[in-house]
Amino acid sequence: MKLPVYLDNHSTTPLDDRVLEAMLPYFRENYGNPSSAGHSYGWIAEAAVRNARERIADSIGASPDEIIFTSGTTESNNLVIKGLASAYSSRRNHFITSVVEHPAVIEPLRSLEKYGFMTTFLPVDKYGLIDLQELEDSITPETLLVSIMTANNEIGTISPVDEIAAICSSKGVYFHTDAAQAAGKMKFDVKLNNADLVSFSAHKIYGPKGIGALYIRKKTPKIKIAAQLHGGGQERDLRSGTLNVPAIVGFAKAMEVSQSGLTEEFSRVQQLRDRLSDGIMSQLSGIVLNGHPEKRLPNNLNISIKGVNIDTLLLRLRDLALSSGSACTSGKQEPSHVLKAIGVDRDLLKSTLRFGIGRFNTIEEIDYTIKRFIEAVNETRNEIL
Ligand SMILES: *Cc1c(COP(=O)(O)O)cnc(C)c1O
Repeated sequence: MKLPVYLDNHSTTPLDDRVLEAMLPYFRENYGNPSSAGHSYGWIAEAAVRNARERIADSIGASPDEIIFTSGTTESNNLVIKGLASAYSSRRNHFITSVVEHPAVIEPLRSLEKYGFMTTFLPVDKYGLIDLQELEDSITPETLLVSIMTANNEIGTISPVDEIAAICSSKGVYFHTDAAQAAGKMKFDVKLNNADLVSFSAHKIYGPKGIGALYIRKKTPKIKIAAQLHGGGQERDLRSGTLNVPAIVGFAKAMEVSQSGLTEEFSRVQQLRDRLSDGIMSQLSGIVLNGHPEKRLPNNLNISIKGVNIDTLLLRLRDLALSSGSACTSGKQEPSHVLKAIGVDRDLLKSTLRFGIGRFNTIEEIDYTIKRFIEAVNETRNEIL
């Protein structure tokens, strides 16, 4: 067993060996630029990108011309939000989102506010879910976009994307979902859920970092997005810059591997999560589950531990790679905006821990984690007494 046990799979996942193998030839002999139309190096790279785009599209029920490669979900979210804002600003200038979104949605919207755009941040219930009636009521003739994440990266709560898409469609507003935690981890099909725009990243599904995609539904009238990077006109002029061929090939392989073992992995990871949760809950008192008991990612366990400061606890758990709150914001000292939004007690905000289980975790690791976690919590609590 390799220590520390990696239990931070919401932040990023290890690269799958099958993905690495698929990428290697595109670092070595196949180094062409897919835009080089005059020789076989370019043709090989172009064919690899075309093939990858088809497989990625296929895995979410899209068609290849609906996929734009970006550097990841952060960029995809920025492209949607700022790109729609500048394409439609003269007619519609209102955006709706929720208070539990990732900073990669919240911050681009905050930046638009400075240019006069209007935003509505919908509150959530104790599970992290918005009220669908409230969503419907908040849509006005000026509303351009609703952006609600599919699955929350801190508490794992899964939103009813299909129902939200139906409301948006009936009101004639675009619907975007940040699916970084969902695509490749659970059934995610744009033909079924009807999202107009979807962001996702390869490194959350055992692929390389720095590559992701934006799905843009083909519809009439066309969804207009203004490019945020101008240059050579790659990605149908929506995202200029030489394509990262090895990463794109790895992204496709990662999607394919995830897709082929989806149901099996979903239940395997869920069993590990439940074993962890049951092990902790049965042996410790004062543990509170955050997020929805059923509508949650199979790999997510987010708990508050009464009477325990997380930083003190983590000092005792150097053999476990864990995250308090979310890694994306944990550089900052403020308590998580998600935990605050779902109404976690003030004194529990700094007593909260996220376990993110992944493809490569074993039963042995989970049992070790339970044992070490319980020891550390008891030691920390006894020290205080
Ligand atoms: C990880 C994550 C992001 C950011 O993805 P990057 O690949 O770092 O750009 C955005 N949203 C959610 C929900 C995430 O989990």
